[in-house]
Amino acid sequence: MSPDSVFFRGRQAVLLTKHGKEKVIKPLFEQATGCRVIVDQNFDTDLFGTFTREKSRPGTQLETARLKARKGLELHGVELALASEGSFGPHPVAPFVPLNIEIVLLLDVREGLEICGEYAGSETNYAQQLVSGWEETERFAKIAGFPSHFLVIRPDHESHEAVVKNLNAWESLREAFEKCLAVSACGKVFLETDMRAHANPTRMKNIKKAAEDLVRLITQQCPACGTPGFAVVETRRGLPCECCGLPTREVAASVFRCQFCNFSREERASPDKIAPAGCCNNCNP
Ligand SMILES: [Zn+2]
Ligand SMILES: [Zn+2]
Repeated sequence: MSPDSVFFRGRQAVLLTKHGKEKVIKPLFEQATGCRVIVDQNFDTDLFGTFTREKSRPGTQLETARLKARKGLELHGVELALASEGSFGPHPVAPFVPLNIEIVLLLDVREGLEICGEYAGSETNYAQQLVSGWEETERFAKIAGFPSHFLVIRPDHESHEAVVKNLNAWESLREAFEKCLAVSACGKVFLETDMRAHANPTRMKNIKKAAEDLVRLITQQCPACGTPGFAVVETRRGLPCECCGLPTREVAASVFRCQFCNFSREERASPDKIAPAGCCNNCNP
């Protein structure tokens, strides 16, 4: 019996999702913890925000995941909940590259634990475009991985009310395009990728990676008390430059801390690890 079973084995964890996220979260989590995951597909998770802007998110990505988890606890009367939340936007250091951040959160109100798996990466079809013709629409759709990846379409601009969703066949896309163009005021149609998990296999893969990260964190236990989720809470920069030896912005040490007993441990980069001169403010200002 693995030590983490003390915390999770035999318990029930609720997951609210109407977009099929249980496919990638449930098997991984159940196998790693010995829990049973209750999937609730009836609760309308769109109330916590939609990618197509009808409903804005009530807080940050993490705050929203916590709200979803708490809602699940409330509806099912259990003490353990899972919640997944994704975000898309321009990459902070390369604005033309999209960035998808996925988190899968585990909330344990019995033990007072919160463990958050994360994945951040640029593997996404996330895109929007204003088009005026079918050829452009077809090009956008092909790049987006349509029809296995769904599209969303509407007349004129990103918040027009006459939105058509669930498009996953060329015929219905053509039909929706003609319909939107016919009612458009400016002769244009706004296209975007559908980022809902069941409509976007690329995103589903990234959610799975976040779930794998969660499971990895669960198996990392506090060396002092055995509580799962012994994770990095802080990184310290200052790895020496390969050229001049001065401290750089590169990570020199990671600090792990236990949520239960507060035990912490610093893991330093090995003494022979050095930073490339390209990261050095002295050599490459
Ligand atoms: Zn240097
Ligand atoms: Zn501890």
